Amino acid sequence: MITELAEKLFIDGAWKAGEGARIPVENPATGELLAHIAAAAPAEVDLAVAAARKAFKSWSRLAPVERSKALHRLGDAIFAEADAMARIMTLEQGKPLNEARGEILKLAEACHFYAEEAVRIHGEIVANTTTDIDSLVVREPIGVVGAITPWNYPAELVGWKLCAALAAGCTIVIKPAELTPFTALAIASMVERAKIPAGVVNIVTGSGSKVGQALVEHPGVDKIAFTGSSAVGLHIQRSCPTIKRLSLELGCNCPLIVTASADLDAAVKGAVRRSFRNMGQICIAINRIYVARPIADAFVGRLGEAADKLVIANGIDRPDADVGAMASAEPLNKTKEHLADALAKGAKLIAGGGAPEGDAFTRGHFFRPTVVAGCTHDMKVMTQETFGPLVGVMAFDGLDEAVELANDTPFGLASYVYAKDMDEIRYLASRLDYGNVAVNNVDAGIMNAPYGGRKQSGVGYEHGREGMLEYLNFKHVRIRYGEPKGR
Ligand code: NAP
Repeated sequence: MITELAEKLFIDGAWKAGEGARIPVENPATGELLAHIAAAAPAEVDLAVAAARKAFKSWSRLAPVERSKALHRLGDAIFAEADAMARIMTLEQGKPLNEARGEILKLAEACHFYAEEAVRIHGEIVANTTTDIDSLVVREPIGVVGAITPWNYPAELVGWKLCAALAAGCTIVIKPAELTPFTALAIASMVERAKIPAGVVNIVTGSGSKVGQALVEHPGVDKIAFTGSSAVGLHIQRSCPTIKRLSLELGCNCPLIVTASADLDAAVKGAVRRSFRNMGQICIAINRIYVARPIADAFVGRLGEAADKLVIANGIDRPDADVGAMASAEPLNKTKEHLADALAKGAKLIAGGGAPEGDAFTRGHFFRPTVVAGCTHDMKVMTQETFGPLVGVMAFDGLDEAVELANDTPFGLASYVYAKDMDEIRYLASRLDYGNVAVNNVDAGIMNAPYGGRKQSGVGYEHGREGMLEYLNFKHVRIRYGEPKGR
């Protein structure tokens, strides 16, 4: 399937051989070339935006139930092709096949969720000072959306934007990450199969600094929906030449607090899953852990043992592996840098610390899940997003200290707590300055509830009804009525 998608753009419902330079896409588990993409030329970005503008006229006026049916068809098409799409994702991103398949199924779920939301767009009638006037507050789609997405969840992060935008009546031009473009192009072929009208969904590939920036600066794009690093998010906010709506889903350095009342087995299990799943390349990955001092040694020992037991492999060869290759050399190098920094400043290595041994790992971007303890806030692992398989642990003496340490960051996407004591849970949940707080579980984001960051972790929400509201404007229609004739 990758070969069929190579060097193509999806514009106005048709596949077009891209005119721009070729960019290689590699398999991060082997270093092998998978295929090339075409960097969309400025004229091709213009074509895509023009197609989305043209399609907006009819898509936004379509009865919501028809948009709903289209999204259901898309969900069905994606579900039917889950195996093939998962394979593409594993080949270009590195996560194990089973995990990739799970992500594709969640993309299908997002299509069905927003298909249902599409028929629930409603407004309000607001009281006026006189009774002959009604104020109708109605919601209307914003227009053309430019979606810019990262490589860690190449299907879901495209899908949340695409589904919510289409449900609201917007059309979209998507610029996927350079490392993982083929998953997005595979989604385009499902859009085609679902017979979504031409121009409603367009995909342009290429670099962020050129193709992504062209969308940010394009006068025909009404809203930018961006997921990625805080640095690029800030750059986008600053470089918008005209007023646009912006959603920015950015990075974090997520804390976990484990209190003395916690179920230790559950806390270790949760910490391992959310620190190392997808090789820690998750915006809501646990990067740093604060443990109540009396249980700190026991927790650290068990966390290290559990990290060492994780099965690491090429995700195509071992679909059920716990972790696969990292997506590129960049997050791998950052992980090594944060580890070296922690060790140089006195942290103790508990597990991992280097690449796994064996021929299977020599050419890919592999690193063992790594735990360091005895950490302090002088260390990068405790203060910056690592975006790799490294977690730092530190002991605390009182809940206020734990809260202070957890909130000692410019970020605010997700935080985690393991505790059994209800008073502790309430105290911590209400004081953690994060858009998401998960208690006694590590799934901070679910499809039905709003998911968004605070502070440098961004603005706006994805998931839930709120995720669709990001693509709608309010319109106030104030109507004065007269006396009816023949009353
Ligand atoms: P990134 O470097 O910020 O890139 C994200 C996207 O922006 C890519 O498509 C990139 O294109 C593009 N881009 C780069 N420069 C641009 C520019 N000047 N104008 C427009 N677009 C530009 O982030 P990443 O390394 O791919 O992803 C990792 C980051 O995403 C982490 O910080 C993670 O926390 C964050 N993230 C946040 C969430 C959330 O929901 N809050 C979810 C997942 C990930 P290229 O690929 O061509 O560079």
